[in-house]
Amino acid sequence: MKIIVRAPAKLNLSLDAPFVHSDGAIEWRMVMTSIGLSDYVQVETTPGDTIEIYSNSGFLPNDNRNLAYKAAHIFLRETQIKTGLKILIEKNIPVAAGLGGGSSDAAAVFKALNILFDVGLSLKELAKMGLQVDSDVPYCIYGDTALVSGRGDIITPLAKLPKMWFVLAKPHVSVSTPRIVKKLTKIPVVHPNTDALLHGIATNDYQAIVANMGNALETITIAEHPQILTLKERLVKYGCDGSQMSGSGPTVFGVCRTSSRAKRVYNSLSGFCNEVYLTQVTTEKINQGR
Ligand code: ATP
Repeated sequence: MKIIVRAPAKLNLSLDAPFVHSDGAIEWRMVMTSIGLSDYVQVETTPGDTIEIYSNSGFLPNDNRNLAYKAAHIFLRETQIKTGLKILIEKNIPVAAGLGGGSSDAAAVFKALNILFDVGLSLKELAKMGLQVDSDVPYCIYGDTALVSGRGDIITPLAKLPKMWFVLAKPHVSVSTPRIVKKLTKIPVVHPNTDALLHGIATNDYQAIVANMGNALETITIAEHPQILTLKERLVKYGCDGSQMSGSGPTVFGVCRTSSRAKRVYNSLSGFCNEVYLTQVTTEKINQGR
């Protein structure tokens, strides 16, 4: 038995951390959206009880450090299903880029196993398991556009975004999410107006959405990697209506209303940054891809 599930990247239209819990966990308030740029995760049952991971990326661990492995291990343990698994990850999402690729692969594994073994777990139940892997996995189980709050575990689906295009640019730097997040309590950050963004989404108002995007981690990551600010500025200079960093970075994205404008920005930026992507809000359901 085997199945292929699409694992889309996510963008943070908003990322805020209103406070830190007494146990050190961050309280998040984020608006995320799934985009067309995707990995594909194939899950196949095998005899025995080992979980094998294969991918086309040289940057990924192929053992129990891989988030797809962790997801499979947790799912099999919780459902008491005994099987071996072969998981093939077609990696298209840049790794450690602020695009949630690992969390999305993990979510794809949960969904694949739920379907393969006909377990019938709800999205809520899968999201609860997903939280054991990473705080972004519950959102990735739901996908589409959603408000993510609490410790990543409270997911409120939102209205569909108006038609918009994203130009993504990933500078050639590595960002450690835990290190950036640790600085949240030490450096003054700019909190985005997430309520205004939510209102823009509820009223399908493109201008209001673009005007109210924001990421509290930007000042922290930009202090370490100033080229992120340069890329943000170039995206707007070349024609995007707004630009912002996703997650803890380093990827930045610009927003355009039309594909022709986005293509122009993409072409202009390609001469300046060698990892540039052109993508839209995801249009198909996260399910068996291809
Ligand atoms: P986060 O903001 O949650 O750290 P990210 O989007 O910046 O995520 P990912 O691509 O998810 O970055 O990678 C984060 C880390 O997870 C990397 O150090 C990577 O080696 C590790 N990792 C483990 N499994 C995967 C996977 N299947 N895909 C991508 N990264 C993985």
